[in-house]
Amino acid sequence: MKKQIAVVGGGVSGLASGLKLLEAGFAVTLLARELPPHTTSDVAAAFWYPDGAKPAARVRPWAAVSYAEFLRLTAVPESGVSLKPAIDLAPKPFAPPDWLEMMDAWEAVHYPPDLHGYRTVVPAIDTPTYMPYLLRQFTANGGQIVQREVTDLAELAAQFGLVVNCTGVWAGELVGDTAVTPIRGQIIRASKPAGLPDEIVHLDAEVYSTYIVPRRNDVILGGSKQRGDWRLAPDPALAEDIWRRCLALQPALKDAKILDHRVGLRPGRLEVRLELEEIGEGTIIHNYGHGSIGHTLAWGCAAEVVQLALEK
Ligand SMILES: Cc1cc2nc3c(=O)[nH]c(=O)nc-3n(C[C@H](O)[C@H](O)[C@H](O)COP(=O)(O)OP(=O)(O)OC[C@H]3O[C@@H](n4cnc5c(N)ncnc54)[C@H](O)[C@@H]3O)c2cc1C
Repeated sequence: MKKQIAVVGGGVSGLASGLKLLEAGFAVTLLARELPPHTTSDVAAAFWYPDGAKPAARVRPWAAVSYAEFLRLTAVPESGVSLKPAIDLAPKPFAPPDWLEMMDAWEAVHYPPDLHGYRTVVPAIDTPTYMPYLLRQFTANGGQIVQREVTDLAELAAQFGLVVNCTGVWAGELVGDTAVTPIRGQIIRASKPAGLPDEIVHLDAEVYSTYIVPRRNDVILGGSKQRGDWRLAPDPALAEDIWRRCLALQPALKDAKILDHRVGLRPGRLEVRLELEEIGEGTIIHNYGHGSIGHTLAWGCAAEVVQLALEK
């Protein structure tokens, strides 16, 4: 008989873990309060970017495993994964970030009117296509979905023996982890105007990063990284500021139409928590706290979840 395992969370961490556990031969039940398209993972821009969570010594290998999985998915059109040029910018020239060593090729660029940075090619994830694709793959491969809130992981661990905790920013409350904090991200979803280059542009900042992410059917304009802010309603003044910043970066956006405003709460934590915890009669594998790069880390973390589950 197959070994039973419960995964809590229907965002990218839960679905990637669930899929890899199914592949490894487990019988997987995924429990989640919200499912795609209603998770934080659905709000993400989203592109592969191996900087923005810690510890670097674990993050880089996880990102590399995910990169390989994304490359495989570029051959699966219904996954919504493609490769896109991406430009990382700053107001002043800066040394190449060390993660560029992971790339096959990159070049220094001067971006008009007076920004500097580096261009490379990264996996781009069209979340309106990708998240439903993951959900379909999960059920098609025999995974069971139960849509409900979980209030007691120990109780679930007693029932299943093994539980994977992929509850994102809500893990803080569920397991009493005060190190978890929301990093609020507000974005605008707009129509793609003629003349918009099919490339990701990212001007990083402590809180008000600016980015333009063209997708299959729209363009995402961001953004913000507001720590400790739980507000889910879009802030109109911030939306105006995002629009102004993106237009300054890419004038072709003047012909874009705003489609809607969205907010997602990234699961901030000093470090990603990916570890085993023995609890009562069962075991929990925690997999949360991926901050700004949960999509980037999902497949690498899922591989480690499987390794931990197999060793139990
Ligand atoms: C605006 C924005 C842009 C982003 N851009 C990028 C990007 O370009 N690249 C990148 O790599 N990442 C990006 N991210 C970050 C990424 O989206 C997150 O790191 C990732 O979504 C976290 O995924 P998760 O599955 O851990 O959490 P979530 O997607 O939040 O999923 C958590 C799941 O757990 C469930 N849950 C929680 N508590 C309970 C409970 N008690 N009982 C049952 N279910 C529960 C929820 O309902 C949900 O299903 C971005 C995020 C935002 C907001």
